[in-house]
Amino acid sequence: MSYRIGVISGDGIGPEIVAEARKVLDCISKKYGHKFEYEEILMGGCSIDAVGVPLTEEAIAQAKASDAVLMGSIGGNTATSPWYKLEPNLRPEAGLLKLRKSLNLFANLRPAYLYEELKEACPLREDIIGDGFDMMIMRELTGGLYFGERKTELADGVMTATDTLTYSETEIRRIAKRGFEIAMKRRKKVTSVDKANVLDSSRLWRKIVEETAIDYPDVSYEHMLVDNCAMQLVKDPKQFDVILTENMFGDILSDEASMVTGSIGMLSSASLNDTKFGLYEPSGGSAPDIAGMGIANPIATILSAAMMLRYSFDLDKEADAVEQAVKQVLKEGYRTIDIMPREDEKKSSVTKVGTKEMGDLIVERIERI
Ligand code: NAD
Repeated sequence: MSYRIGVISGDGIGPEIVAEARKVLDCISKKYGHKFEYEEILMGGCSIDAVGVPLTEEAIAQAKASDAVLMGSIGGNTATSPWYKLEPNLRPEAGLLKLRKSLNLFANLRPAYLYEELKEACPLREDIIGDGFDMMIMRELTGGLYFGERKTELADGVMTATDTLTYSETEIRRIAKRGFEIAMKRRKKVTSVDKANVLDSSRLWRKIVEETAIDYPDVSYEHMLVDNCAMQLVKDPKQFDVILTENMFGDILSDEASMVTGSIGMLSSASLNDTKFGLYEPSGGSAPDIAGMGIANPIATILSAAMMLRYSFDLDKEADAVEQAVKQVLKEGYRTIDIMPREDEKKSSVTKVGTKEMGDLIVERIERI
């Protein structure tokens, strides 16, 4: 099969980590007989430098014409970069927000997976971690409290601020459907998280999730209140497969879940719309402090490319190969600087490698599978 991949290398470490993910995709294309055509798309600070704005209409059209977009990261040092002296709507991040909106990316996927070899980075107790955990947080991205009407006004002489949390059944149904579809590709369990004991929007959420579940009889599902879920994530994270939730709850829970897995350099993510299209990117930023040094961890970007294979192209076997190769390289003791064990825990079996070396090692392991 042939696929068109838009590539946003972006700023800082972006070009370095994207280059490694492309190397991995090239290896997959050779090994499994697919054709990946890449189209470079300009976004972020590099676009400001080249054409004065963080995202052009032409770049949006390029993204729309792609089957999926793979992104590195955008932005610079927010204290020193001249990009941050510009109006907010002309700064690098405005490009990303505009792109997400233009592509109608309403579903955000963030896996939280604990690698056996990186257990020491997990702040939870050994008996809680057990054999590790593997969950996917699916967060609604374009509705709810962050997008509702808001105002701050004087009410009876007292300054009063109001934010509105609104969800329509259409918005809930499309994300619920996505959540169940993702569960079908995993361990077939959905935990829908809400605050139905208090909020009307949560009661509608529950009703629509129950209706959606009827179409997925192979998936078991449960409802969980958000406060309980926050506790369960640190008490027994193994119980979760797919956590399906609205925008603000997902914002908080996905950060909590990612913190229990360790380094930012390992965290992939995807934003999807109601077609097969997705924007795939590492959860971290452009890391200006280490840009150009050849030491950034490319694994989050490589795992984001694996998500692209799985969720946009339905190439599950190929995605498995990438994920297995990452596991293998970690098992053999290769680490970038961010996932090196602490001085007091240093093991002789661990080898420090740079960005390119890590990419090469993963490619070699895929070739051997
Ligand atoms: P950051 O994630 O870039 O960096 C935080 C820390 O994590 C730094 O010490 C950095 O060196 C380290 N780090 C991040 N990714 C790493 C990797 N792959 N390997 C090794 N270490 C890694 O966050 P920040 O410093 O707050 O933000 C820097 C810039 O990135 C800002 O302009 C911010 O707006 C932007 N940003 C962009 C995105 C995006 O492109 N989606 C997301 C978050 C932040």
